[in-house]
Amino acid sequence: MPMTIQSFHPPVRTLMGPGPSDINPRVLAAMSRPIIGHLDPAFVGMMDQMKDLLQYAFQTCNALTLPVSAPGSAGMETCFVNLVEPGDTVVVCINGVFGMRMKENVERCGGTPVVVECDWGRPVDPQQLEDTLKAHPEARLVAFVHAETSTGACSDVKTLTQVAHAHDCLVIVDTVTGLGGCELRVDDWGVDAIYSGTQKCLSCTPGLAPVSFSEAAVARIKARKHPVQSWFMDLNLVMGYWGPNAKRAYHHTAPINALYALHEALVLLQEEGLENAWARHRHHHEALKAGLEAMGLNLLVDEAHRLPQLNAVKVPDGVDEARVRGLLLERYGLEIGAGLGPLAGKIWRIGLMGFGCNRKNVQLCLHALEAVLL
Ligand code: PLP
Repeated sequence: MPMTIQSFHPPVRTLMGPGPSDINPRVLAAMSRPIIGHLDPAFVGMMDQMKDLLQYAFQTCNALTLPVSAPGSAGMETCFVNLVEPGDTVVVCINGVFGMRMKENVERCGGTPVVVECDWGRPVDPQQLEDTLKAHPEARLVAFVHAETSTGACSDVKTLTQVAHAHDCLVIVDTVTGLGGCELRVDDWGVDAIYSGTQKCLSCTPGLAPVSFSEAAVARIKARKHPVQSWFMDLNLVMGYWGPNAKRAYHHTAPINALYALHEALVLLQEEGLENAWARHRHHHEALKAGLEAMGLNLLVDEAHRLPQLNAVKVPDGVDEARVRGLLLERYGLEIGAGLGPLAGKIWRIGLMGFGCNRKNVQLCLHALEAVLL
């Protein structure tokens, strides 16, 4: 049968949902540079720079800092499969969709999750974590989400980590939506294991998961009694390619061009300056918030715990939220996100992430929303 399928040319969109975010043309251009071998000395040099750039983004000196060759979910799994052993008790704080996924990861690793259940739209409560750890002295790990994409709530990583450490637990932190968009200091805050994604505030192509592990986490991994059940994510093996002083031995074929893109996205972050990037997210969030409130729309999360990069907006009574999103896409090429789980139909999620966090996008979004809501 003759094939008549043509090349795919996507429509032009402005991405203001929960991710992926719009990508700087410099990042897309980097991706189209010629491929070289993943063990080529030039590529290996680029890997060393990538580590430095990721350490800067995470604000860490952790030697084991690398991009996992798969999306944010694989960053999550990498943390859990390496740090959870069968029979371990893990305290999982749930204040949205992604905490629920952490619980499932613990179960699949043969661990026993103990859940700290928090309200959706609120940060994780350190007192609830403290009470739970007192009741479970056998716990070895605490897991929570820094920037909960399903609600727009930001949890206090520093305080939660202090509480966990006071009970001899290591922490696993999800900062898929946090990295590059709001304050995060892995070393100062004592975080043991952390993962992110490239498609949110780093404004890179989806499909890579920056991760970082402290010395205490590496020691825990090296002292495991059971082998890591995932061959691909076993850091003992990955370290031979990415690890400190590694011989860069073949483990898997790295996604070479995607790594060029991440390198460029991180160079852009370094050029802007991390703290300037955080301030830019805060600045445009304030403008968006002011415009939304002037339209009579309200945000879900209280002011003190709002993520600037993920704005959860309450859908007014009587408004068909899916129709609004459809009209924004059709008339303005503008994508915003829907609510998830118990918040489905109740909120829109407006992303101001990375390259997409700018005045033009704020104005487009406010203008378009006002026009379709009238
Ligand atoms: N964790 C959080 C907080 C997220 O927002 C996401 C994706 O939106 C993930 C994990 C999973 O990342 P990915 O979709 O890249 O696998």
